[in-house]
Amino acid sequence: MFTQRLKMNAEFEIDELPILAEADVVVIGAGPAGSSAAATAALGGVSVLMLEKKEQIGLPVQCAEYVPLSLAAEVPVPTDCIAQRVEGFITYIDREQVAQTRAPGYILNRDVFDRYLAERAVQSGVKLFTQAQAAAVTDQDVIINEQGNLSMVKARIVIGSEGPKSVVAQAMGCPPQALAYAKQITVKLRKRSSWAQIYFSPSIPGGYAWLFPKNDLANVGVSIDLSLGGNVARALAEFQQYLIKEGVISKEVMRTTGGAIPIGGPRLSMQQKNLMLVGDAAGHTHPISGEGIFPAIVAGKIAGSLAVDSIRTGDLNVLTQYPRQYLTRFGEFIERGFKRKIEYNINWEKTDFPVLVRKTWFAFPEYFES
Ligand SMILES: Cc1cc2nc3c(=O)[nH]c(=O)nc-3n(C[C@H](O)[C@H](O)[C@H](O)COP(=O)(O)OP(=O)(O)OC[C@H]3O[C@@H](n4cnc5c(N)ncnc54)[C@H](O)[C@@H]3O)c2cc1C
Repeated sequence: MFTQRLKMNAEFEIDELPILAEADVVVIGAGPAGSSAAATAALGGVSVLMLEKKEQIGLPVQCAEYVPLSLAAEVPVPTDCIAQRVEGFITYIDREQVAQTRAPGYILNRDVFDRYLAERAVQSGVKLFTQAQAAAVTDQDVIINEQGNLSMVKARIVIGSEGPKSVVAQAMGCPPQALAYAKQITVKLRKRSSWAQIYFSPSIPGGYAWLFPKNDLANVGVSIDLSLGGNVARALAEFQQYLIKEGVISKEVMRTTGGAIPIGGPRLSMQQKNLMLVGDAAGHTHPISGEGIFPAIVAGKIAGSLAVDSIRTGDLNVLTQYPRQYLTRFGEFIERGFKRKIEYNINWEKTDFPVLVRKTWFAFPEYFES
């Protein structure tokens, strides 16, 4: 009999756990990737259960909240999910403005958006369990920890959309992902703006600082690839002081957040037998910008749709199409980003900093050369 030991150090016989539910597809994590995969699968007519460890979906917000306008072609973006429109971003190197790039997008109310996506999934027929943390995945079972109570759900296909530290990825034997770490504050903006700001500086290795306007507020943050050095808290404090001194923001901090951002590119193995990874769990964020909402939603749609085909035909081999379909859509975008990220890391501290940034940031023609 299979014995499982969980982090909490409880040993149990898996066959003795109560079976809470059974579904054709179990989706772990109700973020953009999971809700998108779950809604797509349920609309295709298969039974879907989505597990979310948090009590309230979308909270706390761990995001700067920018998405491209083109997201609306993939999924509805209701007006209450949108805080404001931005026209693009202004790039600064060593605090000097060097480029202004049109990239129209929305600054979301990310908590409202995530809740909307999950509700949309439920309306499509998805059964949602909140406060249900997937503790382990074994073959066709997902073991759930509900505030210390262990139980099990049975699935024909499991989609891991639970972010960078994925239990499905662990079950697939995937190595840990390369991660950048971010800290962000939400502050009062002294003057509204329709342009996001991106700041590169040698004190922010492998990352950047940002100011994303959100009506009278702004998300101000820093992300760093700590394998290159640096200190996220210190870099954010310096950036905040600079913006206060320049009269851009006021001192009061409304919210503080942060989180890990995958920067190593898509996992080599996004699918194995009846398991698929989507969104941050699969490393779908852009390795340099950290943009992850759009690819997470598209990957969720692809995975959800293949899950339907697989259940309908009874053929798990259908799922092997997933990595190729994802790469057909995002291959060029991610490949270039990944290549540039490697170039950045190799040349960090060897190349003149502005030259390095121009080669590795998509505001500059150098980024698109060769
Ligand atoms: C500070 C910061 C700023 C960012 N800014 C932007 C931005 O401006 N634009 C952009 O496009 N991207 C941004 N990103 C990246 C973006 O937030 C992610 O790429 C996106 O959220 C990925 O969606 P996801 O559904 O894969 O994962 P998530 O949104 O992380 O959702 C995963 C869900 O799974 C749940 N979960 C985790 N473990 C378990 C478990 N074991 N069992 C059950 N549930 C579980 C979590 O509670 C969560 O609800 C930012 C990231 C950070 C950290």
